[in-house]
Amino acid sequence: MYQISVEEHFDAAHALRGYRGKCEALHGHRFQVVVRVRASRLDDIGLAYDFTELKAKLRAILERFDHSCLNDVMPFDKINPSSENIAATIYGEMKARLEEAPVTLEAVEVRESPESGVEYREG
Ligand SMILES: [Zn+2]
Repeated sequence: MYQISVEEHFDAAHALRGYRGKCEALHGHRFQVVVRVRASRLDDIGLAYDFTELKAKLRAILERFDHSCLNDVMPFDKINPSSENIAATIYGEMKARLEEAPVTLEAVEVRESPESGVEYREG
């Protein structure tokens, strides 16, 4: 089994609704996003999956979040733009984009800072 990961980031603002503390006010992060997929076999040139292709799929998802106020961007206009919800949202969209790919989505990790992050996986 091979596990492959790519990492991208986006810069965005968010404010956590209903949170009692600093994070209730609008503030920004450079959100680091790591996507992990697994593959059980390699292709004929020894690759499990092309990093470039995986990165392009992730970038396509993150595009609408970059330089935005997440609270105005779907689905965070309805649900709180917490790192937990961001990770689960990216996971769902990534899973749909990998439907035809020879790999299985394992996890999506979203980090708000070097010290704090969330990993989402199914189950
Ligand atoms: Zn925050």
